[in-house]
Amino acid sequence: MNASAELLTSPCWRVPDTAPKPDAGLRALPMSRREMEERGWAECDVVIVSGDAYVDHPSFGAALVGRWLEWLGYRVGIIAQPDFRDVEAFRVLGRPRLFWGITAGNVDSELARLTVMRKVRHDDAYTPGGKGGRRPPNATIVYTSMARQAFKGVPVVLGGVEASLRRFAYYDYWTDKVRRSILFDAKAELLVYGMAERALAEVAWRLREGSAWHGIAGTAEIRKAPESPTDALRLPSYELVSALTEAGRQAFADMTRVIHLKHGAFSEAVLTQAHGDRELVVHPPIQPLTSAELDVIYALPFTRRPHPSYGRERIPAWDMIKDSVTTHRGCYAECAFCAIAQHQGRTVVSRSQASVLDELGRLTRDPQFHGTVSDLGGPTANMYGTVCRLGRPGCPGRSCLFPEPCPNLDVSHARLLGLMRAARRVPGVNHAFVTSGVRHDLALAGGGPEYLRELVEHHVCGLLKIAPEHVSDTVLQAMRKPARRSYESFTAAYRECVQRAGKPYSIVEYFISGHPGCTLADMVELACYLHGKGIEPEQVQDFYPAPLTLAAAMFHTGLDPLTGKPVTVAKTDREKSLQRALLLCHNPEFHDKAREALREAGREDLIGTGKRCLVPPGRARSTGRARAGG
Ligand code: SF4
Repeated sequence: MNASAELLTSPCWRVPDTAPKPDAGLRALPMSRREMEERGWAECDVVIVSGDAYVDHPSFGAALVGRWLEWLGYRVGIIAQPDFRDVEAFRVLGRPRLFWGITAGNVDSELARLTVMRKVRHDDAYTPGGKGGRRPPNATIVYTSMARQAFKGVPVVLGGVEASLRRFAYYDYWTDKVRRSILFDAKAELLVYGMAERALAEVAWRLREGSAWHGIAGTAEIRKAPESPTDALRLPSYELVSALTEAGRQAFADMTRVIHLKHGAFSEAVLTQAHGDRELVVHPPIQPLTSAELDVIYALPFTRRPHPSYGRERIPAWDMIKDSVTTHRGCYAECAFCAIAQHQGRTVVSRSQASVLDELGRLTRDPQFHGTVSDLGGPTANMYGTVCRLGRPGCPGRSCLFPEPCPNLDVSHARLLGLMRAARRVPGVNHAFVTSGVRHDLALAGGGPEYLRELVEHHVCGLLKIAPEHVSDTVLQAMRKPARRSYESFTAAYRECVQRAGKPYSIVEYFISGHPGCTLADMVELACYLHGKGIEPEQVQDFYPAPLTLAAAMFHTGLDPLTGKPVTVAKTDREKSLQRALLLCHNPEFHDKAREALREAGREDLIGTGKRCLVPPGRARSTGRARAGG
């Protein structure tokens, strides 16, 4: 393991001599008393409760954090998808000596249970056999309550995407209400937000040393109002932002803008928010890990397999990622609807080439690996190796990519190209595919023809994924995505490349329906565009207002929090279903709805058998809302 000297400068990263050594024998972390006894442990220091099955792979949050704490010398046990009605399920590993770590898992628990149109999902990719129903709604809150009942007096630390995005008062799509910070509803001591390793190391160290654990960057806590920091920036209170009045909505938009500007980038600001007579205190974002630190984490002894107790039952999410390698974390794109930047941070940290190749080497020695790396990527495949020349603290406060790439962003794809070429040369790797999404404006600005050629010739497994999301420039502006011309230039350059390489041309485009700022007329524009190009999207993303995103604030308030301008919002299920039907109007199942949408948009001229028409004529019927056809 290449632990750099820099790594050991923090006292909380110093491993005591008496600490158990990380299990280099490639055993998973214990999920039972028997496994604890095999290690000679009478108790765990930390017990992590997760809404996902335990897969000992770095793509699973509980495994990543568990292995990291193990490396720092803590005894870590995992309780995965416990029966949330049975307190005994929370007692299987005994009382944690230091703290509980509670996470809903890799996805929001309610989104894992319901579709955006509120239909119950019967599957769950993070569960053995892919079966749904193993995690409760609001899992973070439910697990915390059960852990408290199991062992009184043990501190609870919340983490993971669900808690992270709900650290401030937030808009909850499922109840259509603004809720208190999840810390209040879960009644937990602390919340670690964003990528947790650095903050969690400090929390664990302070608890081990018996020192106070207040004021740690990257965490949120509740204080009595007089105890909260005097130099903090005060957000509008929960009571104000949750009010169903114009003032309440305005305050919610203001709160979102301040959080976005003050906590979106590297910042020293402490933000507080009154909730009744108590105060939520959210400490500044913690510094992202360095590349050397990330290398250490990815070199930890993961088995890369589900815990053996699952037997032969398959876990779909593991099947998807088991042969993939993460090259970097973070995303500076700041798309309005996306929660990645809110959780992983806006600074991209890339692993060294040596670390990625080392992991590829370990993968090829796995007897279950058959030569194909399913993905060499991260949140956006081609952000690997790109950096801000100023460093975040020197940022003048603009967006890195929107509306155009910032001149301070070094968008060169040279490091990425070097990595792609080196990955192909690893003995035992026959293919190293890139299946993470490619950011098209970045590819044009920093990769150019060389990058596209390399992708086409060696790294595309039939289909390249890109996410234009829409083609109406007004909607793209609300989404903070690049203009249509960028998507068109990319597809033209890509097409030319595949033709030269003599390969079949295939791109999968992702589009969103129902995004704030998108009217029925905008969806008609998109549907006509796709129809004209012969594109029939199979995957349509229904807009989901993920807490803490700019788009969630637009959805709730009808205001763009950054500009203060009003935004049109498709809020009812009917409005959303009409937009969706236009995107899927090539599918006969959606013809009735698409006709209804076209009538409502005053575009009956697009119903018929002509070349331009989007849907054939159906039974004559009126929705009662249709305007005269144009
Ligand atoms: S200076 Fe430019 S590239 Fe650097 S963080 Fe700011 S917006 Fe991004």
